[in-house]
Amino acid sequence: MDYYSRQISNLIEELSKLPGIGVKSAGRLAFHIIGMSSENVNALADAIRDAKANVHYCKECFTLTDTDICPICADDKRDHSTIMVVENVQDLAAYEKTGKYEGVYHVLHGVISPMAGTGPSDIRLKELVKRLEKEDIKEVIIATGSSLEGETTAMYISKLIKPTGIKVTRIASGVPVGGDLENIDEITLLRALEGRIII
Ligand code: ZN
Repeated sequence: MDYYSRQISNLIEELSKLPGIGVKSAGRLAFHIIGMSSENVNALADAIRDAKANVHYCKECFTLTDTDICPICADDKRDHSTIMVVENVQDLAAYEKTGKYEGVYHVLHGVISPMAGTGPSDIRLKELVKRLEKEDIKEVIIATGSSLEGETTAMYISKLIKPTGIKVTRIASGVPVGGDLENIDEITLLRALEGRIII
């Protein structure tokens, strides 16, 4: 039964499709939005539409950007022979915030997870291999998380790259087990990076 108008039910339904938003939170957000000024509601709707229309994957590293090649890949001062492989854009941002990493990145957009039915072809691995073939790469730093899936992915990538002779390293285990990189402080991240080992 619809307790509210169809439009509100519709808004609640759409919001509840977002990750981490249950029906209760969706209801709270919906009523909050209804109470907002038209100006603020339009700004929110415009921001969503604008981001969706203009943000896409960088052709090199697959981070999200509004240009063909993201500012990191386009930066000549960065070390383009070192690629850090991260799970997602938030992890890239975490390392960028430290301001100490001078190489470039490759964003996988996921990890290999047999439990969730995510295989190697579901993440941006083929694209990484292609980069390694066409660019002169000296080191690949695997910075996936230390969850079971993160470790599985790291081992898979290591095996994949080893035959090419490119140095493959893994960030040190200073990163808590199962921890998402974006929630880890900068010092821990830097220690994990500096203490990386060849695998
Ligand atoms: Zn890029």
